[in-house]
Amino acid sequence: MKTALVWLRNDLRFEDQESFFKACNGFDRVVAYYAFEPKDFQKTIWGFQKTGKFRINFLLETLQALKEELAQHNISLITERRSAVDGISSWVESLNVTSLFFQKEWTREEVLISDAVCASLSDEVRIETHYDQFLFHPEDILMDIESIPQVFTAFRKKCEKYSKVKRCFEKPKPLASSSLLDTITAIPNLSDFDCSPFETHSNSAFPFKGGTFSASAHLKDYFWNTKRLSYYKQTRNGLVGTDYSSKFSPWLANGSLSARMIYWEVLQYEKEIDKNQSTYWLIFELIWRDYFKYVSLKHGNSIFQLGGILEKEYSWNSNKEVFRKWVEGKTNESFVNANMIELKKTGFMSNRGRQNVASFFAKNITMDWRMGAAYFEKQLIDYDVHSNWGNWMYVSGVGNDPRDRKFNVKMQAERYDPKGQYQKLWLQNNLFE
Ligand SMILES: Cc1cc2nc3c(=O)[nH]c(=O)nc-3n(C[C@H](O)[C@H](O)[C@H](O)COP(=O)(O)OP(=O)(O)OC[C@H]3O[C@@H](n4cnc5c(N)ncnc54)[C@H](O)[C@@H]3O)c2cc1C
Repeated sequence: MKTALVWLRNDLRFEDQESFFKACNGFDRVVAYYAFEPKDFQKTIWGFQKTGKFRINFLLETLQALKEELAQHNISLITERRSAVDGISSWVESLNVTSLFFQKEWTREEVLISDAVCASLSDEVRIETHYDQFLFHPEDILMDIESIPQVFTAFRKKCEKYSKVKRCFEKPKPLASSSLLDTITAIPNLSDFDCSPFETHSNSAFPFKGGTFSASAHLKDYFWNTKRLSYYKQTRNGLVGTDYSSKFSPWLANGSLSARMIYWEVLQYEKEIDKNQSTYWLIFELIWRDYFKYVSLKHGNSIFQLGGILEKEYSWNSNKEVFRKWVEGKTNESFVNANMIELKKTGFMSNRGRQNVASFFAKNITMDWRMGAAYFEKQLIDYDVHSNWGNWMYVSGVGNDPRDRKFNVKMQAERYDPKGQYQKLWLQNNLFE
């Protein structure tokens, strides 16, 4: 049986997924594979876990949902807790795989793994990779990666003027039932990662489940049922509740939703319901997401370095006690504290909150911004390597902000939380828990 292996990483969906589209249209049997890379679940150089319980839980839910969806198409999903470097070559051999498909990643840890995977395979195995996480595909942006502008607006204008978003890939037809494997691997539990089961906090701004099904239901609700999309621009700087912004980021980050899927649905909405500044603004924000992906594609490892892409030299601190107070929400700024407590308890924080706590960390208490970025990496459900490190550089004065702004946290709190409702929500409750 002509067999293809689809290696999944941050493209955990079946719909609009290039690897599945190509594999299902050329092979009798398609097998999906996901490796929980041991390194992603260990402590980092900063002394805390690389991946925290909120994202692990979301990932497990996503994989469970994907496994069920794939089974309906007679595709087995293998999941295992060892590196893909060891796993893929052994499955390739035992299943007689002739082609391996996967989404291109370009950040250092991901490249180390994909290079080692490719090196572990014989020349007879065909390897096909592709960019599948952008809104504007690299072949459609009419810019060399080296000439990606240093300023977002210039990038956005070029994309809007010269580029088109590709159509979504069609959902492949189900394969024959004989293509399912006899071997079934179970998706691990939270306890396998030394995490205890937990309840979603009652005030969480992101109480949703992982997986494409849940993402599509939320999108349908946000667009079609409640028409909140029509008010996105007015509400997007909110702080409390599930409705102020789209909340698409966790699904986008692990790929259970694609930026293209959202884009084409916005266009449909504009045709059928309403086309206004808000509907445009959601696409505008998706272009920010693309921008940070292109920035990291252009600048490589410097996005993880202290001087950032500007190679700036500032005097940074790394005092552990100061860091602990920021993490625990015990600084002298109550707006920062409320946001940090929300992040600790729910794995989510609004964009407004993120800008403020990061600016405070890097520019008020002049802490090594990479510690803050690493803590976000651990804690955020929606952690995305490009958006996280790109935004942190931006706010810390070592990235793409041409004005090198510093947020006045008190004024921000007065403007965005004038009645103190948000601060009360997280600070008061915290006293009694
Ligand atoms: C210090 C800092 C760290 C961040 N880390 C991450 C991260 O790890 N993962 C992540 O997805 N976003 C990150 N962001 C960007 C942004 O805060 C979140 O994408 C947004 O808050 C998610 O909520 P939403 O889906 O409701 O956003 P919406 O306002 O509804 O926006 C829609 C989508 O546009 C994209 N988007 C919006 N703002 C940004 C932005 N500034 N940069 C990149 N993409 C954007 C996201 O994909 C988002 O889902 C970070 C921002 C800051 C300031």
